[in-house]
Amino acid sequence: MKDNSTIEKCSFCGRSRNDVRLLITGVSGFICDDCAIQANEIVAESLGKPQTFNLNGKNLLKPIEIKEFLDQYVIGQDEAKKYLSVAVYNHYKRLAQKKTKDDVEIEKSNIILVGETGTGKTLLARTIAKMLHVPFTIVDATVLTEAGYVGEDIESILTRLLQAADYDVKAAECGIVFIDEIDKIARKGDNPSITRDVSGEGVQQGLLKLLEGSVVNVPPQGGRKHPDQKMIPVDTKNILFICGGAFDGIDKKIAQRLNTQIIGYKKADETQQVDRKNMLQYVAPQDLKAFGLIPEIIGRLPVLTYLNPLDRTALRNILTEPKNAIVKQYVKLFEIDGIKLSFSEETFEYIVDKAVEFKLGARGLRSICEVIMNDAMFEMPSEKVTEFNVTLEYAKEKLDRANLHKLQLQ
Ligand code: ADP
Repeated sequence: MKDNSTIEKCSFCGRSRNDVRLLITGVSGFICDDCAIQANEIVAESLGKPQTFNLNGKNLLKPIEIKEFLDQYVIGQDEAKKYLSVAVYNHYKRLAQKKTKDDVEIEKSNIILVGETGTGKTLLARTIAKMLHVPFTIVDATVLTEAGYVGEDIESILTRLLQAADYDVKAAECGIVFIDEIDKIARKGDNPSITRDVSGEGVQQGLLKLLEGSVVNVPPQGGRKHPDQKMIPVDTKNILFICGGAFDGIDKKIAQRLNTQIIGYKKADETQQVDRKNMLQYVAPQDLKAFGLIPEIIGRLPVLTYLNPLDRTALRNILTEPKNAIVKQYVKLFEIDGIKLSFSEETFEYIVDKAVEFKLGARGLRSICEVIMNDAMFEMPSEKVTEFNVTLEYAKEKLDRANLHKLQLQ
């Protein structure tokens, strides 16, 4: 009988399959995961490539490489991508630094992303999650309430992170949390003293505790359904928080501030340089305060960046360029039925026109495509079709017949 334990050993370090996480089989030998990583480093070094930064034996991407990765999935938004890439890279550095007991402590830089709805905030967060080597979770701030009110306690954020880390507390304490719709917990008025806004300010105060870094008792199952559950203490000191929000109407606050500034300090000809179509690019911490975030929260989110509104070119590119672009997905779906699917450029332009016309943004691209493609997806698998080109006429006909009202409501 063949004795596998003697044969299946890493040809480089000699460890058996049981002693390694992964053993890759070659033609006449094996290599384990550790030796493969080391071999990669040797190759990189001898070919003159810079060494990749290493955390717990995992090679980590540099900021430029992180951005290149994001570029594969997210169109445009270079500014936000750069900030995110640096933040994630620095987060890794901070985690690695703990082990070397260096004197200078690198503090974390939580991030806040401001951008209209449907411009890619959540997509950025989801994409970065694909390449992270730490636990990651996305939570929605709209469901959060102050303890004792209907909704979820602030601690539920950490429950999610614990779940993402398979309840490995140490791992969760190094994780990243994306808090979506942070603008929804803004104080309703700019004057804190008149009324106390429970839904907003109370939640912000609770959130502050997490952002500042403290030991929080977390219900492992979340919610209040299990009052007897044993709490797990989680230290949030090293957890990186990325917040995102549309901040509807903040453009007016930015404009107001710029106007006063411009009148006060700048020459008249400089006023022309303000790009009124994209006010978010001028967003500053004081605008967040004017919108209703408490200064302490703003202080704990030192990296403030923005997303651009999506123009026609961006929408056109979103259709076909990302790695999992909508159009690529349809091509794949048809390919499974042996049908070669193609679109004319005019069709793409038409889809973009409609998304702009109905003010649907990037989210609308998919619903418009669904309306156009549904009949074909219904009928063609049963027909003997091998090729299908979606022409402008075809797209128009399908969309004209569809209930456009339905589209506009989405
Ligand atoms: P929000 O800013 O509201 O979080 P999302 O990230 O959820 O917006 O975007 C909604 C959808 O629109 C995404 O799933 C994606 O398909 C598309 N989308 C939005 N922005 C972009 C972008 N910059 N690049 C590629 N796709 C995008």
